[in-house]
Amino acid sequence: MASAKYVFVTGGVTSSLGKGIIASSLAKLLQARGLSVTIQKFDPYINIDPGTLNPYEHGECYVTDDGAETDLDLGHYERFLNIPTSQANNVTTGRIYNSVITKEREGAYLGKTVQVIPHITDEIKRNFRLLGETGKYDIVITEIGGCVGDIESLPFIEAVRQMNWDAGPDDVIVIHLTLIPYLKTAGELKTKPTQHSVKSLLESGIQPDILVCRTEHPLPHDIRKKLALFCNVHINSVIESLDAETIYDVPLMMKREKLDEQVLVKLGLPHDREPAMDGWKEFLGRLKNPLEEVTIGLVGKYVELRDAYKSIAEAFVHAGAQNECKVNIRWIQSETLNREDYREMLDELDGILVAPGFGERGIEGKISAIRYARETGLPFFGICLGMQCAVVEFARNVAGLPEAASTEMNRNTAHPVIDMMEDQKKITTKGGTMRLGAYPCDLRKGSKASLIYGKTRISERHRHRYEFNNAYLEALEAAGMHATGVNPDTGLVEIVELPDHPWFVGVQFHPELKSTVMNPHPLFVRFVRAAMEHVSNKRLVAK
Ligand code: GLN
Repeated sequence: MASAKYVFVTGGVTSSLGKGIIASSLAKLLQARGLSVTIQKFDPYINIDPGTLNPYEHGECYVTDDGAETDLDLGHYERFLNIPTSQANNVTTGRIYNSVITKEREGAYLGKTVQVIPHITDEIKRNFRLLGETGKYDIVITEIGGCVGDIESLPFIEAVRQMNWDAGPDDVIVIHLTLIPYLKTAGELKTKPTQHSVKSLLESGIQPDILVCRTEHPLPHDIRKKLALFCNVHINSVIESLDAETIYDVPLMMKREKLDEQVLVKLGLPHDREPAMDGWKEFLGRLKNPLEEVTIGLVGKYVELRDAYKSIAEAFVHAGAQNECKVNIRWIQSETLNREDYREMLDELDGILVAPGFGERGIEGKISAIRYARETGLPFFGICLGMQCAVVEFARNVAGLPEAASTEMNRNTAHPVIDMMEDQKKITTKGGTMRLGAYPCDLRKGSKASLIYGKTRISERHRHRYEFNNAYLEALEAAGMHATGVNPDTGLVEIVELPDHPWFVGVQFHPELKSTVMNPHPLFVRFVRAAMEHVSNKRLVAK
């Protein structure tokens, strides 16, 4: 295969315009035309990766199969493209500097002054090309985090300029995503912020090839003409991106605006074939025409920031569509369940999901919610910390170990039913040191898990330091909690179930990270179905 072509996506005017969604939508359309595409994100912050960031700072940390802790946009890439990403798909300024400084200490630049240009920019370009050089991709789309004009994105922008300068005439293009604000009092769409942001790109030596314009109102012809003239692009390269009802509408909106065709023309690639989007349209049809409705309580500590549970929320969208059921998420701050009257807050739910998390805050609220689900037969799904809390609740209230706890919350507990993994005990540094990435898990025959997956060996992604303490396995099994998924190499418990409950499943891994539009995760699909059954049973009882 000839070497890959590169599409860079920059952003201007403000952040949060949805560069990740535009990049994913474009990639989806190109993939649907038979091209092999990947997307990577370059972030301008100094952290080596977002693994040490509080979710309030940067939303969810997305984990890849190869154990990279990455930006949540990689989740969108996987959900849209249905192909896995890896460490190489997310690079930060911190990673770039780390490798240049390590090389400097090794003597790689001996005698030279190490500088932003060329050493940092060369390292950025080397990383830009890593996936392209594998020979696996026709097109590599690179999203540059932040806004043009930010001090911290300058080296990335300069590296994009150099890529453009190094490359053949149609090998590199730049798409600039911008905002066209609507001034209500003037009743007008305004182009000036976009003109300025393109000027700022031009000052860095980059002429964007295509403008994608986020707007609340359709762009009339005269506005498109003005943007084209002032920003020095062809009018067909001014692409309107209206606010969408769901992010999954965006690929078809971009198709209508011919973004994919413009990209192919500019890259000198054939563009006669229509993208095959039938499966995608079917998904949208099911998503938008639900026959039923359920309400799931999502109990977590970071619920004020929805991005903290992005993949879980999206997995419910996929699973809802699969079941032709609208899934409403009720976000429940776990601390509010510490109150006496918490049962009333959970009364109207059709299922409870207790979310992943770290630390002690809100833990007792999570345990109360689990107790309620266990006692009332409400479908329960616990993920990572949610599973660990389910083990603690069961040990305390069923297995006769009232002192049971996780040592993450109580170091000196008499019954550490959840304890730190042995190899974690010697680790003193925080970044990239958890049990991360994909591990195999064997499912017990006849268990709910094996029925749901339809096989006995699965692979799922992880991010944790604590585990089910196997010293309590026998006691908990005897009391009725089954460990139905176990790591074949270490015996680490990955799944617990209560066989006497309509649907009570806790998983140590993160199934939400592998749910995609074309491949909704079976655990989410079946959890939503259990919630639907709960609704119809409630209806029967009411009659
Ligand atoms: N804090 C728990 C652990 O480290 C759970 C982690 C999680 O929910 N991702 O094991």
